[in-house]
Amino acid sequence: MNNRLKPVFVVFCAALPFLVLLAGCGTDPAPTPTPVPTPTAMPEPTAMPEPTAMPEPTAMPEPTAMPEPTAMPEPTAVPEPTAEPTTEAPPDGGFQIPPPTVTMLADGVYHYFGFFTGSLVVVSDDGVLITDPSNPMRAQSLRDEISKVTDAPVTTIALTHEHFDHVGGTGVFPDANVLCHWNCKAAFELSPLGDVPLKIETFDDTMDVVMGDKTVQLHYLGPGDGDATTIIYMPKEQIVVTSDMYEPRALTHKNWVDDKNFAGTRRILNEISTWPITHAINAHSPGTDPVDLMENVGYYNDLYDAVKAEVDAAIAAAGGATFGAYSLFDTLPQTLELAQYSDWANYDTSFPRHVERMLLGIYHGD
Ligand SMILES: [Zn+2]
Repeated sequence: MNNRLKPVFVVFCAALPFLVLLAGCGTDPAPTPTPVPTPTAMPEPTAMPEPTAMPEPTAMPEPTAMPEPTAMPEPTAVPEPTAEPTTEAPPDGGFQIPPPTVTMLADGVYHYFGFFTGSLVVVSDDGVLITDPSNPMRAQSLRDEISKVTDAPVTTIALTHEHFDHVGGTGVFPDANVLCHWNCKAAFELSPLGDVPLKIETFDDTMDVVMGDKTVQLHYLGPGDGDATTIIYMPKEQIVVTSDMYEPRALTHKNWVDDKNFAGTRRILNEISTWPITHAINAHSPGTDPVDLMENVGYYNDLYDAVKAEVDAAIAAAGGATFGAYSLFDTLPQTLELAQYSDWANYDTSFPRHVERMLLGIYHGD
């Protein structure tokens, strides 16, 4: 408490009993209780505001006249679908897989074409020989189609080369003897797919397989597509089987040329073109017309000649030193043309790679 007020407070406290006495003896009546204030009236609710009138809808704009349709452009000619992919198209590449076809080429000899890949099928009293089952799904299709023409089991599988898109599926025929060139073996050991034959019989140069009254020859003529390139030939029926060596009026697509020996392919095609041939099976197209083979002999010879001429000139310009041709690897794929093949499929995309690969084949042997 404030010190200055303390004396006042003491006096007030001392006087308080007297003040109470005086009050109790006074004449004034006890104070009436103060009236409880009446509740004030509730305020009148204020009138709800009148809803404002909805705005009149504005008139819809007159539709503007639709523009006259412009004349549809003339449809450009749809390119003719190629009858078959011109590359080793994977079956899971997002396109439909046509049903397989089986064509009789000679008595007891058939061309199965399915999953964009062809196989020779030779039916005999001794069993059935097939080439390249390729993969398990295709091999099952192959087995199903074979069962429509014979009850004989597949006893022999001849592989055209070591590439994994050709050698798979042999497990569908577990009792068959698998034949391939010796060079296959080392490549099989590299397979990350594991779908390679476990039981194989290899050969070096040639092997004759006698199936009843039919003879199937296996020939190794050097590297072509892969290092184990095997040419399969039936001399009596004049049927030859090559694989990934050529395609009808199409350049092997650039994606598939890295393990293709171009000088070797040229040499093999030239050699087999001297054999009597009625049907030429070429792995990835359904046709068997030998004309396709002969046209490709021409292509590979023309490519070889054009590249070889440049190599010879470059070496001559360097005074006979082979390193004079080094610079061609940087220039020739961009400058060389073979206009007569410019209408072949894949020419635009893949011809420079063909030049490069042929250059390496001539210069390096690869
Ligand atoms: Zn191949």
